[in-house]
Amino acid sequence: MEEIKNIRFGCLTKKGCAEVHEMPLKDLKDNEVLIKQLACNICTADYTQWLGLREHNGYPISGGHEGSGVVIKKGLNVSDLEIGDFVALANNYCGSCEFCRSGRESECRIRATYDDHGIYKGRMGFADYFIRPVTSVIKMNKELTPGEAAFLEPVATVVKGIKKLRLKPFEKVVVIGAGTMGMLNAFVARAYGAQVIISEMMENKLDTAKKLGFSTINPSKENAVDKVMEFTSNKGADIVIIAVGNTNANIEASKMLKKMDGKMLLFAASYPSPEIGITANDIHYRRIEVIGTYLADLKDFLNAADLLNTKKIDVSKLIEKNTYYLDDINEAFKEASTPGKYRVSVLLHKE
Ligand SMILES: [Zn+2]
Ligand SMILES: [Zn+2]
Repeated sequence: MEEIKNIRFGCLTKKGCAEVHEMPLKDLKDNEVLIKQLACNICTADYTQWLGLREHNGYPISGGHEGSGVVIKKGLNVSDLEIGDFVALANNYCGSCEFCRSGRESECRIRATYDDHGIYKGRMGFADYFIRPVTSVIKMNKELTPGEAAFLEPVATVVKGIKKLRLKPFEKVVVIGAGTMGMLNAFVARAYGAQVIISEMMENKLDTAKKLGFSTINPSKENAVDKVMEFTSNKGADIVIIAVGNTNANIEASKMLKKMDGKMLLFAASYPSPEIGITANDIHYRRIEVIGTYLADLKDFLNAADLLNTKKIDVSKLIEKNTYYLDDINEAFKEASTPGKYRVSVLLHKE
């Protein structure tokens, strides 16, 4: 095997500036694997930092957490992964704090410490090679492209929300917003047996949603609440998933819900924070459940890997076509930050 001394990685050094930096590769510990990272997709959290909307996080940021790669070396205690296995990034967690031991790995007490690399902070998804604890990667189907397998993390966060909704087959679900996360919510809800309608104003996104077999609403051209009533035989939706951070969308969602016992899932954040759009009395009299979701735990990652690996969901249409390599990372961030884009994938090796 080629001897790797230094790794090259993408990092943000200031607003609008993604650069490639280098650092020495660390020694491999017994419970770790060396990953030749193949692709990392640019998440909203990454490009809003590039846009300068999250300056409180500071610089330099060596982010990127939607990634995949191949195991090229493994520590002595690694038994369930082999050299050559294709893997995607999950979360880091210690496995021994009280949160990890109760299946709440997303709350791991020392989770943040894994993202500390001297002056650089982040998950290092945009590195050409990286050493990771074996527990923070999950084996993927080699038939997926690196960009598709890199969807493991966002799909896991969607699975967490769908579980919190206790979604049942044949329930009628409205998804507001057909960006990457809205579409993933629609995919996963459909895979769990729901009938899904998607509300979106941008024509190109509506087209994609239609091509992927979903019923759609364009609220700038038609009355969205009327359309939902039509879709649900005048009963209203069992569930509305709001995949945009927007007060009007929240107000609209409450009107789309069935009269009693509807559920709304707040999937997206926005700054300043949107209002929920309904009153405590609405929640009381209509027995509405307002549910929040964020991050994912190990079980959600395993369920997400199953959805991707068995092709119950197909994310290939949610990747932009332009090819970017590590050296083009600033251009990649520029495209990812353009409104209306799905995921932009950065390939970390040229062959
Ligand atoms: Zn993400
Ligand atoms: Zn822990």
